[in-house]
Amino acid sequence: MLNPCDGAFLDGLSGMLPPGTLIAPEARYLVELRGRMHGCAGAVARPASTAEVSVILRAAQAARVGVVPYAGGTGLVGGQVMPDGPLPLILSVERMTRLHDIDVAGNVLVTDAGAVLADVQARAEQADRLFPMALGSQGSARIGGLLATNAGGANVLRWGTMRELCLGVEAVLADGSVVGGLKRLRKNNMGYDLRHLLIGSEGTLGVITAAALRLFPRPARTGAAMLAVPSPEAALALLALAQERLGEGVSAFELIGGQGPRFVARHLPGQRQPFADPPDWSVLIDLGLVAALDPEQALSALFEVALAKGLVQDGVIATSAAHRAQFWSLREAIPEANRLVGAIASHDVALPLAALPAFIARADAALRALGDMRVNCFGHVGDGNLHYNVFPAEGRHRDAYDALRPAITETVHGLVNAMGGSISAEHGIGRLKTRDLVRYGDAAGLAAMRAIKGALDPAGILNPGAVLG
Ligand code: ZN
Repeated sequence: MLNPCDGAFLDGLSGMLPPGTLIAPEARYLVELRGRMHGCAGAVARPASTAEVSVILRAAQAARVGVVPYAGGTGLVGGQVMPDGPLPLILSVERMTRLHDIDVAGNVLVTDAGAVLADVQARAEQADRLFPMALGSQGSARIGGLLATNAGGANVLRWGTMRELCLGVEAVLADGSVVGGLKRLRKNNMGYDLRHLLIGSEGTLGVITAAALRLFPRPARTGAAMLAVPSPEAALALLALAQERLGEGVSAFELIGGQGPRFVARHLPGQRQPFADPPDWSVLIDLGLVAALDPEQALSALFEVALAKGLVQDGVIATSAAHRAQFWSLREAIPEANRLVGAIASHDVALPLAALPAFIARADAALRALGDMRVNCFGHVGDGNLHYNVFPAEGRHRDAYDALRPAITETVHGLVNAMGGSISAEHGIGRLKTRDLVRYGDAAGLAAMRAIKGALDPAGILNPGAVLG
């Protein structure tokens, strides 16, 4: 059983840390983006170095005080928000933003875990390199949190998740020991790869304090198109066609259900929309090509071929960088519009590519049988990742659906599981999906996870209640 982060513990800890490291828990550390959970804490620690993280964890383990690691606070499954239990200490990496090094020839950037993603992207760009992780919250999400949740985003199709973008991590374990894994190697087979154990562990096995990240050459020319497609099946056929013609040049391929742009038109009317009347399905294709290829020409040639095959009905090809940015702005406005409408339930799921169209049809039919609801389905279809969000019928409030919520999620997750998918594609398990991890996870796999947790964090101080419950 854990002890609360109380005055006696904080008095002892403050003597081991520079003044100002410990602060009272401000409200911003205790709420999550969608207001679904409210956290509790005895204090917030803001260490400035790995050595200070080590001091904090050693003291917390000795006193059996829970520690909730905190990076940008943008997680969507409650991994950074502990709603009840003995008051924990929040450990924020916000002051650990030091850039250690950029190795341009080696295509590696080494940074502390508190660096904000947008700053890392900008530092890479200054060195004429690309750090390809891109997501809506990049202005506040921090590298440590992105690694702890193995974040995905829009460019996974081409460049992979955080796991694939990371060559090494440094982390502090529950006993305060430091795993110094900041290797910059493409090949390294020295025993178990602790990097991959820590990435995606959501702060339950250790606190990531620094990382070596992969950089890439910047594509010489970029372009984008928004194309109306008759169905999700057609979207998948269009993706295959685009990849046949352009190979790796396809950087992102997003599916957008009509409900998203309709929500945006209603709630964020300043957003420019490519179609006056949003089609039921459209895709956003993003290209990054070598200098010899013209993205506008490539996209219009793709459009002609796709039109002849009946895979597209209409389309707009970006004519400038600003125009391309407008498409992405619309895509990124969808989650914001969703928050303004207020979802009954949100699902971040992955399916085998071939199963996506059948999943969408079957989930929609099953939800119609449950009640009158609207679905906003969109996502990174090239990775098989859908954000399948369920909203009240027009004119009704989500509170009216409280009793239905468990059945809605059970319907969606049950179908995902039956079709060989995953109930957590890119957001993690956090505290919202712990029961479903047990329900749909592999039994032997879960037993192994519990054994690892018990070995690395025997007192259970690291992010109590997250992932394994
Ligand atoms: Zn996403």
